[in-house]
Amino acid sequence: MSNIVAIVGRPNVGKSTLFNRLLERREAIVDATAGVTRDRHYGKSDWNGIEFTVIDTGGYEVNTEDIFQEEIARQVQLAIDEATSIIFMMNVEEGLTDTDREINEMLRRSGKPVYIVINKVDSAKEELPATEFYSLGIDKYYTMSSATGSGSGELLDDIVKDF
Ligand code: GDP
Ligand code: MG
Repeated sequence: MSNIVAIVGRPNVGKSTLFNRLLERREAIVDATAGVTRDRHYGKSDWNGIEFTVIDTGGYEVNTEDIFQEEIARQVQLAIDEATSIIFMMNVEEGLTDTDREINEMLRRSGKPVYIVINKVDSAKEELPATEFYSLGIDKYYTMSSATGSGSGELLDDIVKDF
C-alpha cells in the first residue's frame, strides 16, 4: 500500500507553503496538483528515497462561521479516511484556537498517526510562545518555518519511520 500524508489545519496556517516545499524536493514531479476535487491537491514527494503522496487540504469557500466549522471537519474526516499519516498544522502567530482544539480531538479519536506541527516559528524567539500548544494535552510537537524549510527535516525523518 502506498504511503499518503495529508496536511490539515485552519486556513492560513501555512499548509500549502509546506505542500509546495515538499514537492520541490523532488526533481521530477509526478502527478503534482492532479486535484481530484477543487479543494484538495495531490502530489508526489520523497524523503531519503522513500516515496509518498502528499495531500494539501483547504480552499474553504464559505462565509458563515457554522459552515466554516463544518467544512474544516469535512476536510479532516476526508484526511482521516484517505491518509496513512496526518500532519496537523497550527501556527505560533495566531496561537491555539477553539477550532484547533476541535480538529485535535477528531484526529485523536481517529487513532491515525498524527504529527503536530507548529508553523511560522521563523526564529528561536518563537520557540517559547509555541509551548502554549502543550495545553492540548500532547506529548510532542514539531516547530517549523514552512517559509524557510527549517524544522521540516526532523518531521520527515519521523514520518517516514511510520511507513
Ligand atoms: P494555508 O491556508 O494553510 O494553505 O496557508 P498558506 O500556505 O497559504 O500560507 C498562508 C500565509 O502564511 C501566506 O502568506 C504564507 O506566505 C504565510 N506563511 C506560510 N508559512 C510561513 C512561515 O513559516 N512563516 C511565516 N512568517 N509565514 C508563513
Ligand atoms: Mg492552502
